[in-house]
Amino acid sequence: MPVKLIYEKSKQGRCGVRPPQSDVLARMEIPEEFMRSKPAELPEVSEIDAVRHFNELSRRNFGVDTSFYPLGSCTMKYNPKLGEEVSRYEGFAALHPLLPQLRLGGMLTQGALEVIYETERMLSEITGMAEFTMQPMAGAHGELTGVMLIAAYHRERGNNKTKVLAPDSAHGTNPASAAIAGYSVVSVPTDSRGRMDIDKFEELLDDEVAAVMLTNPNTLGLFDENVQKMADMVHERDGLMYYDGANLNAILGKCRPGDIGFDVIHLNLHKTFATPHGGGGPGAGPVGVCEKLCEYLPISLVVKRKDGTYALEYDRPKSIGYVAPFYGNFGVILKAYSYIITLGREGLVRVSENAVLNANYVFNMLKEYYSAAFDLPCMHECVLSAQEQAKKGVRALDIAKMLIDKGYHPPTIYFPLVVKEAMMIEPTETESLEMLDTFIEAMKEIAVIIENDPQSCRDAPVTTPVGRLDEVAAAKNMDFSLKER
Ligand SMILES: *Cc1c(COP(=O)(O)O)cnc(C)c1O
Repeated sequence: MPVKLIYEKSKQGRCGVRPPQSDVLARMEIPEEFMRSKPAELPEVSEIDAVRHFNELSRRNFGVDTSFYPLGSCTMKYNPKLGEEVSRYEGFAALHPLLPQLRLGGMLTQGALEVIYETERMLSEITGMAEFTMQPMAGAHGELTGVMLIAAYHRERGNNKTKVLAPDSAHGTNPASAAIAGYSVVSVPTDSRGRMDIDKFEELLDDEVAAVMLTNPNTLGLFDENVQKMADMVHERDGLMYYDGANLNAILGKCRPGDIGFDVIHLNLHKTFATPHGGGGPGAGPVGVCEKLCEYLPISLVVKRKDGTYALEYDRPKSIGYVAPFYGNFGVILKAYSYIITLGREGLVRVSENAVLNANYVFNMLKEYYSAAFDLPCMHECVLSAQEQAKKGVRALDIAKMLIDKGYHPPTIYFPLVVKEAMMIEPTETESLEMLDTFIEAMKEIAVIIENDPQSCRDAPVTTPVGRLDEVAAAKNMDFSLKER
């Protein structure tokens, strides 16, 4: 039965518009059992109603462009609109990934290959690594790629290593990635200074440890100064050091993971190097490696030829293969490229200086009101605790909900897991002193409200279309069906 019948049937339905028929469509045959028996139930609204509906929804959306978004560990900073513009250039946005690299297609693809190559070189310089793959699509994807590279290294050397060590403050993706790559994960406790307990670490480190995964500064916002010592101990046993680069904005231009002794690192371009993100995407998690791991990198890699042209290289017999289709999240790579060259060397250094200054400012202004998880100078984010408030029956979750009423996105709560009633605030480098001061005021006001009227905090939010949701039910029993109001 020819396709045009669908149109004929739907013509009788509620959406009366008859789409133009193409000969191609008309010639396709669709078996009867796949045809609709009755018209689709599509909502029928006028254009103006649709426009108002979507505008109304967009106004309810919260983003960095509307207000302060101090979600710790996520680096929700303002990103220059320039990056958006560059990633939309038609010469980039309209490229087909299968265009040839040279001759006719080269006129179209050489620029894109150059961007990938140059970004890779700049990231290598910033981090002190030998080479990068730009393929992974997120931080977690980069972690898995990195641990697969580690596994390939040990496999070839005949090392019988089965374990990965990670601190108990680690982001959940670290142990998850190591486990998916086939390792058993051993958790190392945090000491009283918020760093990895070095004595416990020494006890747990044996010849079966394939790698140690570290975030530095860690998820408590603290720099672990033992890291070089740990790297030496791990390398002595032919283990490898993995650097989770989600917090790179704290040390940008100040020190390089490669110089400290890390062998593999992932970066979250969407955290440190622009790209607005949230709700699961888009992202890019390029992975950098030291010399001895280069031969295992995923194919393809962009190389620069002697004549100055760029090409894709597939000739790496020991490669772990592909980890993503094509060349990574190219739009995100473009934004990182434009961000890095716009800021330049000095600009990147100012990023980390201001990120650290802002976090310490917020921390010191608030630590009398909410207890400090660790009362030490922090790096780019700080962790406060609502454990005093919890004694009055108000928990970190309630404070987060009340912040929504005050117009702010809540900080990360209940993470890192090692801090009771954790509230993890990352102001980022892009906020003004005025903005930080109004946020600090709001947090102080909430602390006073909790003293006098704790119930009102438990009732928050009251300014949103819905109050407290059953988040588990919302995630597990999703219902997307259209309901008549
Ligand atoms: C965000 C984050 C990750 C995971 O990165 P995604 O891009 O969200 O997959 C890993 N580790 C730390 C410390 C992070 O903050």
